[in-house]
Amino acid sequence: MHLHHNTLALVNAAADRARAAGQRWTPQRATVYAALLSTKGAIGAYDLIDLLARLQALTLKPASLYRTLDDLQALGLVVKIESLNAWRACHHPHQEHQHVFLVCDGCGQTDEIADHGAALHLSQSAAALGFKTNRHVLELHGNCSSCVTAA
Ligand SMILES: [Zn+2]
Ligand SMILES: [Zn+2]
Repeated sequence: MHLHHNTLALVNAAADRARAAGQRWTPQRATVYAALLSTKGAIGAYDLIDLLARLQALTLKPASLYRTLDDLQALGLVVKIESLNAWRACHHPHQEHQHVFLVCDGCGQTDEIADHGAALHLSQSAAALGFKTNRHVLELHGNCSSCVTAA
């Protein structure tokens, strides 16, 4: 597998994260995470299966891919963007954080906000109501800079 230098650094950081969590870092997890890093935005599970077959010569059954995606999501390395029913790699695997995503309704591109103060603030507000937050699914919908410029 040929990896972009930056991708390799991110995959290594993800492997460290998995080991720190006491989990094995399998070749399949590494390949799926790297494939997600290589896609521009979020990708559906079946498109991801096609991509893995085409680029990595890796043939996965849907159940096997979903299991790997769930494992990666539990590690915080991959996030499902619920409104798109698609998956996206976290590009900041070095540290644990909640996710806030920007979803362009024009071209479907997604981005991630690295400053997670907003998610923390929401968790604290929820905690004030006695609610324990396990998972954030925060999405801002709008238009990305390219689409705004093109308009
Ligand atoms: Zn992230
Ligand atoms: Zn766009």
